[in-house]
Amino acid sequence: MIPALEELIERFKALPGIGRKSAERIAFYLLNAPAGEATALSEAIERIGTEVRRCPRCHNFAQEGLCAVCSDPTRDTKRICVVGQPWEILKIERTGAFHGLYHVLGGLISPIDEIGAADLTIDALVGRVRDEEIREVILALEPKLEGEITGMHLVSLLKPLGVKVSQIAQGIPVGRDLEFADEVTLGRALKGRIEL
Ligand SMILES: [Zn+2]
Repeated sequence: MIPALEELIERFKALPGIGRKSAERIAFYLLNAPAGEATALSEAIERIGTEVRRCPRCHNFAQEGLCAVCSDPTRDTKRICVVGQPWEILKIERTGAFHGLYHVLGGLISPIDEIGAADLTIDALVGRVRDEEIREVILALEPKLEGEITGMHLVSLLKPLGVKVSQIAQGIPVGRDLEFADEVTLGRALKGRIEL
């Protein structure tokens, strides 16, 4: 195998869900693809590194300024749904069950991984709840230990501010990522949220 091709295969193989066979198939496809296709792919990959930023308000992915949700004037600006990672927003958006704003923590509190509250955007969330006169904060954190620890910490900070704090209903299989919960289940979990 020539080194350039081998490197490409190794890089595809390092991606989630792609094994050696798939990596080879994609690499050989690109080698024979119409002119410009491989270049367009490499440019798209380059752009996520240079153009994708974080929304200054909610820390969702954004290209410039506020993200698509924050800049949508039809959203309910008095409700915030809190998630660990930006891709969890996509899953919730697909349910169509939530029309408020989001806040991305950037992870979950995890003593084992030495991730504390200060490593997350918790201060920013508390600031938003205070400054934006938020009425309800909905916790949509992964149903695992780290999600529970983070949720309890958020409740202790937010309840004294007088805001309603709720949690999406159980219905998501415990230990499964929010990412993999199906849309119907997640939509029901949002509608059937319980106040904490
Ligand atoms: Zn935003």
